[in-house]
Amino acid sequence: MLQLKPSCEHCDKSLSADATDAMICSFECTYCQSCVENILKNVCPNCGGGFSSRPVRPKEEYKPGVSLKQYPASSEKVFKPIDSSEHLAFAESIKDIPPEKR
Ligand SMILES: [Zn+2]
Ligand SMILES: [Zn+2]
Repeated sequence: MLQLKPSCEHCDKSLSADATDAMICSFECTYCQSCVENILKNVCPNCGGGFSSRPVRPKEEYKPGVSLKQYPASSEKVFKPIDSSEHLAFAESIKDIPPEKR
C-alpha cells in the first residue's frame, strides 16, 4: 500500500495526505511539486525515474473499512536533502529521456 509520507524529502515542506502538490516516484520517494520541477528536473535522485502526482486517499469511508481513518498517512518523516550540483550532473544525463522510456 502506498505510504503517504508527511513531507518533502528534499525541502521538508509539509505534505498533508490531501496535498495536491505531493509527487511520488514508483518507489514512493516523495517530493513537493516545486522541488520536482525546479531542482530534481523530474529525475528521482534515488532511482532515476520520473514523478507523478500522489493520489489522495479518501477521508470518508465510501467503501466499508477503506479510508484514511483505517489507513492513515505516515508520520515518519524522510528528510534527505540532495546535493544539488551532484544531482544536476546526474539529471542532465537522463532528464531528456521521457520517464516511460527510461
Ligand atoms: Zn520540496
Ligand atoms: Zn525514486
